Amino acid sequence: MSPEAGGENRSPETAAAPDAAGFSHPDTLAVLAGRRSGGAELAPALFCATTFRIPSLDAGRRMALDAAESRYYTRNGNPTVAAFEEAMATLEGAEAARAFASGMGAVTGVILGLCSSGDHIVAQRQLYSGTQFLLQSVCPRFGIDVTFVDGAEPGAFQAAVRPGRTMLVFAETPANPRLDLVDLEELGAITGPLTAVDSTFAPPCVTRPLDYGVDISLHSATKGIGGHNDATLGVVSGSADLIASLWGFAVLQGANAAPFDAMNGLRGLRTLAVRVERQSSTAQQLAEALSAHPGVESVRYPGLASHPQHELAQRQMRMFGGLLAFDLAGGHEAGERFVDAAKLAQAATSLGGPETLVTHSASTTHAGLAPEELEAAGIGPGTIRVSVGLEHSDDVVADLLHATELATASFA
Ligand SMILES: *Cc1c(COP(=O)(O)O)cnc(C)c1O
Repeated sequence: MSPEAGGENRSPETAAAPDAAGFSHPDTLAVLAGRRSGGAELAPALFCATTFRIPSLDAGRRMALDAAESRYYTRNGNPTVAAFEEAMATLEGAEAARAFASGMGAVTGVILGLCSSGDHIVAQRQLYSGTQFLLQSVCPRFGIDVTFVDGAEPGAFQAAVRPGRTMLVFAETPANPRLDLVDLEELGAITGPLTAVDSTFAPPCVTRPLDYGVDISLHSATKGIGGHNDATLGVVSGSADLIASLWGFAVLQGANAAPFDAMNGLRGLRTLAVRVERQSSTAQQLAEALSAHPGVESVRYPGLASHPQHELAQRQMRMFGGLLAFDLAGGHEAGERFVDAAKLAQAATSLGGPETLVTHSASTTHAGLAPEELEAAGIGPGTIRVSVGLEHSDDVVADLLHATELATASFA
């Protein structure tokens, strides 16, 4: 048998890594997790191999069918990807995790991996636009019926569940782009269908959906978890049984995470908590400053007392995150001027990276929506979404206040 037949390459003389099992604080877990199968190296090892020697036919048969096997064929599993998955499962308080080639790979893997023709899904109206298109346009083609509800309205998900037919309840919190929250305790209490949360805006150092009884937590790790705008990556966490059943579809779907992206995802996880802390404190300062500006009609940030679900945010978020949205007086024209006037903040989609990014929602992330859909999602002609970066807070606040001044001088 080859030395790696046991699925580990740890040599006996290698000093053991500190065991994450002895710790519970997410900041500490983020540093310790995902090192089980590693050697003495302190950074993730990159396994580019697409295939691995099979020690015997019997072992091969077992390896081919095992969701946890990371040294058989990389579409099924890969050691670098497995290290990222293990770290995510640890941070989420989950038994297992499966990484995907993107956040949409994860969303598609969950929805099409779990639901069949004739099934029913309850989802919220406030969603990442890609997820919304998938539910609205693709699911009906496969005979999957979807009911959209207002995720911020108490009891809305439960009320739309059709006993015996609803397979999945799909939520996103905080939600794109207006930071509406879903009450996770309420969601986790739903019995019958599986419950899933896209928690991209609230990474594990902020919120852990599984702690509330939710079945599946998923992320676009392209965003805050990767955190450096250099990895396209998704991840789903849950019970070992659930992840194993998703794995059966995921291997056919072929949206497996690339080892290089998983390596960057794991690198990003190590500093997640300090990055989100900085982004949250700058976002709070920015939200307060914008709220006081006459050119701003309203600001949405979970950390503001004016957020309609501020009390819920305090209950289920350890920090309020780096995302905020606001409405400029002057609509579309002001929105356009604002994006042009910002000097430090850059106009780009995505979020959770080192650079502060601004997007005019109606003409970028939600450009494909019809006017009535924009209105239903709470996106106005002057809605701007900000992903606060890691620059000094004084610079971020000054830049965006200046841009607001220039954009709204003739409207306020
Ligand atoms: C970006 C995003 C996605 C999709 O992720 P990709 O990695 O771009 O495929 C899904 N959900 C949310 C909330 C997102 O912000």
